[in-house]
Amino acid sequence: MHEAAICEALLGQLTTLAARRDWPRLQEVRLRVGLLSGVAPEALEFAFSALAAGTVAEGSALVFETEPARFACITCGEIDHDRLEFVCPRCGGPLRLLHASRDLFLCGVTPSSG
Ligand SMILES: [Zn+2]
Repeated sequence: MHEAAICEALLGQLTTLAARRDWPRLQEVRLRVGLLSGVAPEALEFAFSALAAGTVAEGSALVFETEPARFACITCGEIDHDRLEFVCPRCGGPLRLLHASRDLFLCGVTPSSG
């Protein structure tokens, strides 16, 4: 239900945005998702395609970008990594999580050309 609520809010904003810019249809909607946002992209995509029917976003593609988290490795220093993993991809040492985003935000909307 979490994802459905997010989609309702998102579709409301996309409808407003499209009306303001005179876009009849949307082709692509890009979202940036923090690793600690608690959002499951597959569930969000599923809810989006169901709820977008009859709106400007019907048939549009939902594209996800992951906001990388920042970790510290004793050997390599600070590194950015787009997965919640606690083993350093360079040296295999343990990682400490310094910062991961809980945000979910809309980072781009492409209108349909046709
Ligand atoms: Zn390392």
